[in-house]
Amino acid sequence: MPSHDVLIIGAGLAGQRAALAAADAGVTVAIMSKVHPVRSHSVAAAGGINAAINPADDWRSHAYDTVKGSDFLGDQDAIEVMCEEAPKEVMHLEHIGVTFHRNDTGELDLRAFGGASMNRTAYVADITGQAILHVLYEQLLKYHETVDRYEEWFTTSLLLDDDGACVGCVARDLRTGKMETFNAKNVILASGGAGQCFKPTTNGLICTADGMAQALRVGAPLMDMEMIQYHPTTLVENGFLITEGARGEGAHLLNANGERFMEKSAPNKMELASRDVVSRAEQIEINEGRGVGEDGSGIYLDITVVPRKRTLEALREIVNIGKDFAGTDITKEPILIRPGQHYIMGGIKTDIHGATEVEGLYAAGEVACVSVHGGNRLGANSLLDTLIFGRRAGEHAAERAQSRPMPTASDARLREDEAWIREIIARPSSGRRISEIKDELGTTLNRHMAVFRDEAGMQEALEVVQRLKEEAKSACIDDRGTVFNQDVLGAIELGYMLDAAECMVVAALHRKESRGAQYRTDFPERNDAEWLKHITTSMNGDGAPQVGYAPVTITQWQPEERKY
Ligand SMILES: Cc1cc2nc3c(=O)[nH]c(=O)nc-3n(C[C@H](O)[C@H](O)[C@H](O)COP(=O)(O)OP(=O)(O)OC[C@H]3O[C@@H](n4cnc5c(N)ncnc54)[C@H](O)[C@@H]3O)c2cc1C
Repeated sequence: MPSHDVLIIGAGLAGQRAALAAADAGVTVAIMSKVHPVRSHSVAAAGGINAAINPADDWRSHAYDTVKGSDFLGDQDAIEVMCEEAPKEVMHLEHIGVTFHRNDTGELDLRAFGGASMNRTAYVADITGQAILHVLYEQLLKYHETVDRYEEWFTTSLLLDDDGACVGCVARDLRTGKMETFNAKNVILASGGAGQCFKPTTNGLICTADGMAQALRVGAPLMDMEMIQYHPTTLVENGFLITEGARGEGAHLLNANGERFMEKSAPNKMELASRDVVSRAEQIEINEGRGVGEDGSGIYLDITVVPRKRTLEALREIVNIGKDFAGTDITKEPILIRPGQHYIMGGIKTDIHGATEVEGLYAAGEVACVSVHGGNRLGANSLLDTLIFGRRAGEHAAERAQSRPMPTASDARLREDEAWIREIIARPSSGRRISEIKDELGTTLNRHMAVFRDEAGMQEALEVVQRLKEEAKSACIDDRGTVFNQDVLGAIELGYMLDAAECMVVAALHRKESRGAQYRTDFPERNDAEWLKHITTSMNGDGAPQVGYAPVTITQWQPEERKY
C-alpha cells in the first residue's frame, strides 16, 4: 500500500505549492491529480497575481482593499497573513523562473485591477496561471526521490481512522480502472472549485466540487458557500472569460445608449470597482432594457480605447478568444459580454495553516475557505491565496508528520468504493442521463443563485437540487469499460456537485441580507447587527445540510459602508 507523510489531492497551483513546501521540509510526498497537472484549472488564470511590491505601496493597503472587497466578511487575521507574505512569494516565483512582465526600466510591471487602490497586479501577459503552473511543475520534478506523482488518478473517498483522523484516501487509476488505498499521515485537499455546478461558467470541466463533497462526507464543515462570484466580463455565447486585465488596461463598459453606466454606481473606480458591484450594475442595465446584442442580454466591453500595440502585447490571449469564440476583433470593435459564474468564495473551513476541523486533513486553494475573500474576492487575489495557503498547509502538514507514526488505513472503504463503481456500471440504461441532470442543475443555479436572488427562486432551486440528488442515484452511463472511463467519473462528480450545490442554496436562503456577491432583492440591505458572521454547512445524514455559524475575525478595520 503506498504510504506517504503528506498526500496532496490536486496538482493545480495550491497542490503544487503545497508539495514543494512539504518536499523542502524533507518529508515524503504524494501528489495526485485526475488530469495531467498542467491541465488543472489554474492554467487558465489570465490576469495576474496581487502583491504590494511597489515601494510606494504597503501590504496594509492591499489588506484593507481585500477586507473592503470582501464586504467585511473576510477574516482579517488571514487577510493580513496573505497580504504581508505576498511580495516575498511573488519574488520567490520570479527567482525560480516565472517570467513576469517588466516595464521599460526593467522593474516588475504592475497592472491595475478591480477594487485595488493602486496598481499591484504582477502578470505574464494574459497567461499568468499557465506561466506559474509550468514553473512549479518543473521545480517539483527536482524532488523525484521524495515526491511520488499520481497523474490521472481520481480520488473517490477520504479515509478516517478510529479516532476520526484523516489517514489517506481511496483512488482509481484512470488508465486501468484499478482502485487502491493510499495511506498518509496527513492529507491536503487542493482539488479546486465548483464552477461546473453552474451553466454557463468560466471554469474548466474538471471543477466539480470533488474535495468539498469528500470533506463534507468525513465531517468537515464548509463555510461561506452562499458567496458565488459572477465575473463582469464573460462571453454571452458560451461563458468564456475575458480577463479583468482588459479593464485594468483601460477598457470601458457601455450600455445600449453608449453610456459608461458605471458612473452611477462607482463614480471613482468606474469599471474597476469590485466584481460584485460591477456585475450588479451590468445586470441592472440589462434588466432595465439598456442591454445590447440581439436580445438585449449583453453589455459592450470596449477594448478599442486601449492602444492596439499594448493590447497585442498584454492581452494577446483574449485577442484570440475574441476572434475564435465571438468572431470579434477586440482591437477594432467592442465585444459582447455579461456577468457569468466564475469563482466560489466558500469552501472547506480552515484556519490560517490550512487545517480543517478534521484532524490530519488540510485544505488550500479554491477548495478551501480561510476566509480571505469573504463575500467577494478581488481579482488576482486567488492565485495569491492558492500559493500562500498552499505553502502554509504544506509546511504545517510536514511538521505534523515529523511527530507521528505512519498509520495503517483499512481496506474497508476500498471495497465499498469498488462496489459503488460496479453498481454505477451495472445500472440499466433506463435512468436519466448524467448530462441532462448536470444541465438542469447548472441552468437552475444560474437562474436562481446569480447576481440577484430571492426567497422564492432559491426555494425552487433547493427543491430542484434535492430532486436531482434522487435522480442521480439511478442516472445511467454508456461506457462500461475500465480504461479511461470518463462516464463513471461523471456519475461520481455529479454526486459531488449536488452535495456542494445543496450547501450553496441552503446557506444563501439562510443569510437574510445582502452582502458581497449575495444580493437578495427581498433583503436589499447589509445587516451587520445580525449577519456579520460566517455561515457553515455540514453533512447531516440524508437530510438537508446542517447550518451553523462562525465569527468573523476583525483586527484593525471596522465595517463601514462600501463605496467605489
Ligand atoms: C478562466 C479563469 C481565469 C482566472 N484568472 C485568474 C487570475 O488572473 N488571477 C487570479 O488570482 N485568479 C484567477 N482565477 C481563479 C484561479 O485561477 C483559481 O481559483 C485557482 O487557480 C484555483 O487553483 P487550485 O490549485 O485551488 O485548483 P485547480 O487549479 O482547479 O486544481 C485542482 C486540482 O485538483 C485535481 N482534482 C480535482 N478533483 C480531484 C479528484 N477527485 N481526484 C484527484 N484529483 C482531483 C485536479 O486534477 C487539479 O489538479 C481564474 C479562474 C478561471 C476559471
